[in-house]
Amino acid sequence: MNALPKKPLPEISDLTRPFWTAAREGRLVMQKCPRCGTVNFQPKPWCIECGERALEWTEMPSEGTVYSYTISHSVAMNYLGWQEELPVVMCLIDIDDGARMYAQLTDTVAEDVHVGMRVRVYFEEISKEAGIPKFRPA
Ligand SMILES: [Zn+2]
Repeated sequence: MNALPKKPLPEISDLTRPFWTAAREGRLVMQKCPRCGTVNFQPKPWCIECGERALEWTEMPSEGTVYSYTISHSVAMNYLGWQEELPVVMCLIDIDDGARMYAQLTDTVAEDVHVGMRVRVYFEEISKEAGIPKFRPA
């Protein structure tokens, strides 16, 4: 019998560590540019708008809006842990006053998911050094 592999863990670098650590502590953070105010996500070594390198990790609001989504019913989620969650809803979410991020939406049925849906973040611990933000209907 073939055992399914566990869900892959993020590859954490010095650049991304603040995001994963904050998520483990129950906080959603993104890099904000002190010069132009742009919120950068995913983590980057410099601001995507003005090139500033001294970006500041800033706590984001806990809610956002679904920009787009996809629903997976099978094969791409062939990991232990995903199978029990099928169908899995993955969304692009515009965080209020923040940036757009990719995350899983739970606690809803696939038929109810829609563009413009208001969602709220919560966190799951996935390792000793990382948590992962997920979302539920607000
Ligand atoms: Zn900037």
